[in-house]
Amino acid sequence: MKGQPGPSGIDATHHVLVVGAGPAGLMAAETARRAGASVTVCEQMASPARKFLIAGKGGLNLTHSEDVEAFVGRYREAAHRVRTWLAAFGPADLRQWASDLGYPTVIGSSGRVFPHDYKAGPLLRAWLRRLRHEGVRFHFQWRWCGWHDSGALAFATPAGEERIRADAVILALGGMSWAKLGSDGRWLPLLAARGIALAPFAPSNCGFECAWSAHLVERHAGSPLKSVRLALAGDPDPGPKGECVVTAHGLEGSAIYAISPRLRAAIAREGRAELRIDLAPDRSSETLVAALAKPRGKRTLGEHLRRVTGLDRLKLSLLHECMPRASLGDPDSCAAAIKSLPVSLTATRPIDEAISCAGGVRLDELDDGLQLRRLPGVWCAGEMIDWEAPTGGYLLTACFASGFVAGRAAART
Ligand SMILES: Cc1cc2nc3c(=O)[nH]c(=O)nc-3n(C[C@H](O)[C@H](O)[C@H](O)COP(=O)(O)OP(=O)(O)OC[C@H]3O[C@@H](n4cnc5c(N)ncnc54)[C@H](O)[C@@H]3O)c2cc1C
Repeated sequence: MKGQPGPSGIDATHHVLVVGAGPAGLMAAETARRAGASVTVCEQMASPARKFLIAGKGGLNLTHSEDVEAFVGRYREAAHRVRTWLAAFGPADLRQWASDLGYPTVIGSSGRVFPHDYKAGPLLRAWLRRLRHEGVRFHFQWRWCGWHDSGALAFATPAGEERIRADAVILALGGMSWAKLGSDGRWLPLLAARGIALAPFAPSNCGFECAWSAHLVERHAGSPLKSVRLALAGDPDPGPKGECVVTAHGLEGSAIYAISPRLRAAIAREGRAELRIDLAPDRSSETLVAALAKPRGKRTLGEHLRRVTGLDRLKLSLLHECMPRASLGDPDSCAAAIKSLPVSLTATRPIDEAISCAGGVRLDELDDGLQLRRLPGVWCAGEMIDWEAPTGGYLLTACFASGFVAGRAAART
């Protein structure tokens, strides 16, 4: 990386340089600019916030309306650190911010918060217009690839290497899923080489693999498994009632995402995780036993189960898939299987498919303003930091909040 400044001759000193134009980077840029810094954002893709736009495809879930203690608790081991970010820029601030951009929020039935049109595109466009209007500069297709000997940051661009020296650098490079959208984790060795401790990336809010029979896959892959409660065997704290999808490889979707850290840890520890599915969370074992004990008459076992339990075809197929036929004829063991169907999960789905990632820059590498203790002048924000949270708006909220904290601190340099 030695030599002359790049083809455009850019080697100016920018007060705050933000690398990564996802929600965390853009919020850091906005905050630093509003605090009076001159701000440049460099992004390796040809356009900003591609993952944010994909998040909008399912109805952009910006944040959640639950009370602050419950909210903070979603960040589990990282809660004590995320709490301070949320104190600076919390769910209410995020809702006000969206409203100021012309997108007031609505609360869905589950307490999740969305922009009123449920979309990411219009909100992002309004935000970018405002950022540009306020003087934030952008370079796209600029991939940060390390530090030049001079201390400037080096970027690979279509025109060759460019360098930018900055008083403050905010890295907001994302996690390691959906690499085609830019979050490719290629920055990891750059920080590791500077002695920054990094937790290995792992999929969070991810699908899991199990060995379904060809018959089940053929009949049900892609089908929603509605109104179930999932738990890791032996875990006294099951996930909330919800739904997931049976796939050719295993299970996907919000109910399994909600307990993915525990399942992932069990697989890492024991090579497999035993999932327990409550197929009838609104019915007690006793009522099921009583229903199953009714005389079957001339009906087949399958028809009897369907009639007395009210389970749909997919749930009945899962019972047959996971339990020996003989046990389904016995009311007690059949009711026990309906309330706690064992499914052996063997692996997480690949990290690139995950909604989010655990791992990244360890929290103890960062001071309260999110500056790297070992690299003064460099701040981090967003999913590249080692925290995880379930879906429900908690991911974006922490990305925005950490961007705010880093942007505010970096502008003070
Ligand atoms: C399908 C899907 C749906 C989702 N839905 C929701 C939802 O509804 N609610 C919610 O809260 N969360 C949701 N998420 C998660 C949320 O989108 C992410 O947590 C969030 O985008 C992370 O923000 P970030 O700014 O930290 O990183 P990113 O959004 O990943 O942005 C990082 C940016 O850094 C750039 N970059 C990386 N390396 C370099 C480099 N070397 N040089 C220059 N630029 C670089 C990348 O190109 C990227 O643009 C969803 C995720 C997915 C995949």
